[in-house]
Amino acid sequence: MLARSAIVRKYALRKLASTATATPKLTDVLIVGGGPAGLTLAAALKSTPRLQHLKTTLVDASDLMGKVAPFYDSPPENFTNRVVSLTPPSKSFIETKAGARMLEDRIQPYDGMYVTDGLTNATLNMEKDSMAYMVEILNIQSSLLKRLEELNLPSESLQLMDNTKVASIEYSDPEDTTSWPIVTLDNGEVFKTRLLVGADGFNSPVRKFSDIQSRGWFYNRFGVVATMKLEYPPYKLRGWQRFLPTGPIAHLALPDDNATLVWSTTEPLSRLLREITPEQFTGLVNAAFVLEDSDLKYFYRQLEKGTISNEKLLEDINFRTEQVYDSLENDDLIDEIYPPRVKSILGPSRARFPLKMFHADTYCKDRIALVGDAAHATHPLAGQGLNMGQGDVEALIKALEKASMRGHDIGSLLSLQPFWAERYPINNMLLGMTDKLHKIYGTDFAPIVALRSLGVSIMNKVGPLKNLISGTLSDSGK
Ligand SMILES: Cc1cc2nc3c(=O)[nH]c(=O)nc-3n(C[C@H](O)[C@H](O)[C@H](O)COP(=O)(O)OP(=O)(O)OC[C@H]3O[C@@H](n4cnc5c(N)ncnc54)[C@H](O)[C@@H]3O)c2cc1C
Repeated sequence: MLARSAIVRKYALRKLASTATATPKLTDVLIVGGGPAGLTLAAALKSTPRLQHLKTTLVDASDLMGKVAPFYDSPPENFTNRVVSLTPPSKSFIETKAGARMLEDRIQPYDGMYVTDGLTNATLNMEKDSMAYMVEILNIQSSLLKRLEELNLPSESLQLMDNTKVASIEYSDPEDTTSWPIVTLDNGEVFKTRLLVGADGFNSPVRKFSDIQSRGWFYNRFGVVATMKLEYPPYKLRGWQRFLPTGPIAHLALPDDNATLVWSTTEPLSRLLREITPEQFTGLVNAAFVLEDSDLKYFYRQLEKGTISNEKLLEDINFRTEQVYDSLENDDLIDEIYPPRVKSILGPSRARFPLKMFHADTYCKDRIALVGDAAHATHPLAGQGLNMGQGDVEALIKALEKASMRGHDIGSLLSLQPFWAERYPINNMLLGMTDKLHKIYGTDFAPIVALRSLGVSIMNKVGPLKNLISGTLSDSGK
């Protein structure tokens, strides 16, 4: 086995060495990454009159045509597990500037967020019509691929290469960092590009090549996601987020009796949440929005030790949640302050992702621009990661339009700088805000708990302040 992989590696290296001297194909914009940021950029470039003449190449390591594109024409019955909250500006940019039509019947607008402190029950109830939209990432990507297909562009205008990895990047003149980058792909093709865009995610090879530092930290927390079937559709279309000391749990609406979950928690607990049976997981999700943290700790311990049967666990959770419901002034409050109860979890939909906060020192250099997760990564508690990437793409398109209008070289730092000047402060503010929220809520230290609860209660009563926060969350894609 080892010998075989060594042979494959040797062959790949020999193949690369032989192609390093191949004549590079020229392109104006080479986008590495066909995630939401890269595909939006490609579709927006090809839909913008001033930019559509730019010869564009998009390279992605994954199977975009085989696994992502078919989602559009034959979406699965069940909702997939990578769902994001898309702000109105992000949605509008994808639809108007990039020209994509997402599958509307798989999108759920929601009208607010009901946020509670798991230790004190201090509440922030934000209400705003169509505050944001819950959308599957596959819906976003496949609608952009559909748009590119419908544009029916010749390969001289747009070349999309999936199942293809960037193998190496170098400057055409190694002594000159303003010279056009040469990008060698693992299929042997070589491109020379006026502008190289890194839309290639957190481990961005383009960022590494550019020598732009990205600073930050891992939270030692994981986000566990799952697609849920509810006992009944929600009475109010909104999101519920409860800050437990181990991290926030969020229940977000999808059409009908579907919903999606992001449960941010510690590493051992995230492993437990992945390993327990779907019934146990369902029970814990229902418990996590209603019961005291001490109850939850008791259930975690029992599950870790394996000393509780499914029946006993669910019976116990039901008994304790009914007690909480009975203590409410009236039954209507149940649907007001708690999300609808979960009936089941879709089989393979549970997955976990490491959570982190990173920010690149800059988003551009001569010939290079970074967008999306290549430039920044954030905790999902404010639902802003992908939206920040959409904001980057919009700002980059604006900067390129301006450069093109003035007859400037679109790959020059002069042309790219307005893009980073527009985006860096907004992203920095959102990254900082999300990081502070994570830290303020990640403690059960009594004075901090008391202070944050007081702060939240005041915010909940002061209309303009509350509107400012819901406005920030709803408009921050721009
Ligand atoms: C649990 C969780 C919940 C989240 N919830 C939200 C939310 O509610 N709202 C929100 O806005 N955001 C949310 N996010 C963040 C959001 O998912 C990401 O910010 C977004 O998907 C990043 O998109 P991107 O296009 O920048 O990068 P990616 O989606 O990472 O795409 C990068 C692409 O680059 C390609 N690539 C990488 N290396 C190479 C290479 N060498 N050669 C060729 N191709 C390469 C990859 O194949 C990939 O397709 C959440 C994240 C997590 C973990």
